[in-house]
Amino acid sequence: MEIKKGIAVSPGISVARAFILDSEEYRIPLRYIDAKDIGKEITRYEDAIHLSVKELDNIRKRFARRLGEDAAPIVEAHMKMLQDEHVKAQVIENIKKNKYSPEYAISRVLRRYTKALYSAHDTFFTNRIQDINDIERRLLKNLLEERREELGDLKEPVILVAHDLSPTQTITLDRSKIKGFVTDVGGKTSHTAIIARMQGIPAVVGLNSISLDVSGGDTIIIDGNSGLVIIDPDEETIKKYSAMGKSYVVFEKKLIQELKGQPAVTKDGHKVTLFANVELPQEVPLALKYGAEGIGLFRTEFLYNTPQRAPTEREHFDVYKKIAVQSRDRQIVIRTMDLGADKIQVGGGNKEKNPFLGCRAIRFSLLNPDSFRTQLRAILRASEYGYISLMFPMISSLSELRDAKEILEDVKDKLTQDKIPFNQKLKVGIMIEVPSAAMIADLLIKEVDFFSIGTNDLIQYALAVDRGNECVASLYQPAHPAVLRLIKSVIDEGARHHKNVAMCGEMSGDWVYTILLLGLGLKTFSMSPIVIPEVKKIIRSVTMVEAKKISAKAMASQNAQETADFLKEYTSRIVPQFS
Ligand code: PEP
Ligand code: MG
Repeated sequence: MEIKKGIAVSPGISVARAFILDSEEYRIPLRYIDAKDIGKEITRYEDAIHLSVKELDNIRKRFARRLGEDAAPIVEAHMKMLQDEHVKAQVIENIKKNKYSPEYAISRVLRRYTKALYSAHDTFFTNRIQDINDIERRLLKNLLEERREELGDLKEPVILVAHDLSPTQTITLDRSKIKGFVTDVGGKTSHTAIIARMQGIPAVVGLNSISLDVSGGDTIIIDGNSGLVIIDPDEETIKKYSAMGKSYVVFEKKLIQELKGQPAVTKDGHKVTLFANVELPQEVPLALKYGAEGIGLFRTEFLYNTPQRAPTEREHFDVYKKIAVQSRDRQIVIRTMDLGADKIQVGGGNKEKNPFLGCRAIRFSLLNPDSFRTQLRAILRASEYGYISLMFPMISSLSELRDAKEILEDVKDKLTQDKIPFNQKLKVGIMIEVPSAAMIADLLIKEVDFFSIGTNDLIQYALAVDRGNECVASLYQPAHPAVLRLIKSVIDEGARHHKNVAMCGEMSGDWVYTILLLGLGLKTFSMSPIVIPEVKKIIRSVTMVEAKKISAKAMASQNAQETADFLKEYTSRIVPQFS
């Protein structure tokens, strides 16, 4: 039994078999073979070694021709490792004695080696890990051949273990079978974290080497409340955590039940609006179940998941119309594509050195006006079917906003000419997620109907801290005085111009900051559906007078950690369930 501590990013507790998702998406489940097949399976393993050695020999020859004999030793070292008698003996023993399938036996033996190398903390040894991983991949590829099982074919519930999850992988997952996510990398607002929270699936990220520590098929426990992951737990621990998992589900259910139909209103009568963030259209019913009054952020990146081509107007329109109809008279804020950086990449080939500072979101849209127009046309057409608003991401200057609005006006004119109906009064807002936009909020607010503060990016850009990098996760501080000042100035600017300011970054769904944001005057909170009941409970347990006092105290603080601790402690005192 091994216990690892990472960053807890999505609450809940699960116990299930591990499914290792590597870059090639091989599944290496714990499989037993029949005693009568032992000989056959060993031959299969030996055949895979021969085939792999042959492949490497061809590569070695190609290398030698192109680069001279100097390059050969690297490949030769791989060939030697593949045929290492000691490794071979261990794999064969696992097949014979434990009746493990060769795939599982290889994975288990080689991962034990990489684990040992990892703990040596030596660059020379860590480089060897890469070699062993390459060998494992090659062997498995040749072993599995036709029998390869893909992630899409999951037959039983699993906890997904990966180095990282790409946006494309997370979109194609059969989420009904995923009982948890654990990854080596990532922070609280990384893509995996957001997806997990959105789906109400427990997740722990930033575990460094979990994808090497676990073998496919191992039983693991994931505690998304405390950030613990337990590998190979004993029976007693499984029992304890299963019971904890059940009581967490009961706690959540009770909270939903208690707050069902209740408004998000403070004890002294100040009403705020709680919206949900939605990543996929099928999440809309979940959002409504958790009490969302509307959709404050509908991310549209999933539509661009087919790398070969951009989505058609029809494809956009069908999705937007469907969510408009599903949400009935509730407001839906559709954000235009935020492609690039940590999101879905399009355009191939052109790798950027600094994607977060590169051709992302509105910048991409303005450089690709045809795709942008297609999306805008579809949103406008769908606005006939519900209460849709439009939002531009990553605006960093007035001219960018004006360019985007000019294209929008042009698309509207074309629709009018073609006599295609749309909501003439469609509201247009922008995300405030770049510090420059926060600083010129007074100029931007005059040209839009609303703001939505995107703290996930605002924090990373203001503090120069990558939102998805676990090494700097402790520096990613929502309560940093610089961040709080930016947020406050944006909210104040909205109030001065009588325009609504929402927040759709993860900070708005983190119960630690609810009272602070309330006191700063935030009127619309948009968050992952599962945290709506928690935030509502806190709002209903505090007065606005109290919240203002607390936020004034937080604004006067010079230390982010002290502010966060103070807010946490205060909230736990008034709502003891959240301690
Ligand atoms: C944000 O940046 O806070 C936000 C909500 O957008 P995303 O997480 O999609 O970048
Ligand atoms: Mg963002």
